[in-house]
Amino acid sequence: MVEINVRTALYGIIGNPLGHTLSPAVHNAAFRFSGIDAVYLAFETSDPVACLKAARALPINGMSVTIPFKSRILDHLDYVEPAAREIGAVNTVVNRDGILHGWNTDAPAALEALEACSELSHLRCLIIGAGGAAKAVAFALKDRCREVTVSNRTEQSARTLAGSVGCGWTPLSDAHRQKADLVINTTPVGMHPDTGKSPVTEQVLENATAVMDIIYRPRKTLLLETAARLGCTTIGGEEMFLRQAARQYSLWTGKTAPLERMRAAFEEAMKGPR
Ligand code: NAP
Repeated sequence: MVEINVRTALYGIIGNPLGHTLSPAVHNAAFRFSGIDAVYLAFETSDPVACLKAARALPINGMSVTIPFKSRILDHLDYVEPAAREIGAVNTVVNRDGILHGWNTDAPAALEALEACSELSHLRCLIIGAGGAAKAVAFALKDRCREVTVSNRTEQSARTLAGSVGCGWTPLSDAHRQKADLVINTTPVGMHPDTGKSPVTEQVLENATAVMDIIYRPRKTLLLETAARLGCTTIGGEEMFLRQAARQYSLWTGKTAPLERMRAAFEEAMKGPR
């Protein structure tokens, strides 16, 4: 256990709301495990730009960024890594001597989580949702899958996302016609406490061999339960969550993240209050 002292480095997450974030549990466990003299706090804020100023001034060495600030902070950073610029969202800030660098670790994390379970190149992928997470997933998969299609409640957003990624889109009511091999939910539909809901009908999964839900509370959403019943490989949201956190840790410390220790901290934190 590292004691907080005059040299302890500060990290944190900015977002709103943050009441249920598991990031502090996972990152503090990683710092402790590796003997890194640092703490990671949750900063629930309505002013992300002021937080960036504070990061320079205090300093805060690194920050995770979550809903609803991932796009909003883009123009307030000194440098944005090209992939994050293309996606239009930053979930990681690295403070290098007062110069703030923005990265997106969601996209490679989603790809890594999927590649751990399936060879992607021959798959037709259907992404449900067209928000920030969908964008990261679509950019990650666009050159890896045989075909990528997005579908969303608000059709205009699906059309816009498809245009910027260079993939297809379909109305939700026609999603079953895609005969997708891989279906990925990036909407909050099915998340606690609305666990009785699924973002798509069973018909949409008829051809699927693998289904990923980026929700991690509950572990098995109704979508994943249905997919498992149909014999699909299922991938829960914790796989993307842990990998995006591990990549943040590496960007901040220059070290390989202790992924299994982070997983154990995640499991422990999941037992706590929702
Ligand atoms: P976002 O930008 O607000 O986008 C939300 C998307 O979900 C939009 O496409 C929205 O459709 C759709 N949606 C919301 N409520 C819906 C409903 N009741 N029925 C149908 N569609 C609905 O949010 P985000 O940043 O993409 O995050 C989405 C989810 O992913 C959140 O639950 C977040 O916690 C999770 N997430 C997980 C990870 C991870 O590492 N596992 C990483 C990032 C995000 P409209 O356009 O019609 O509003």
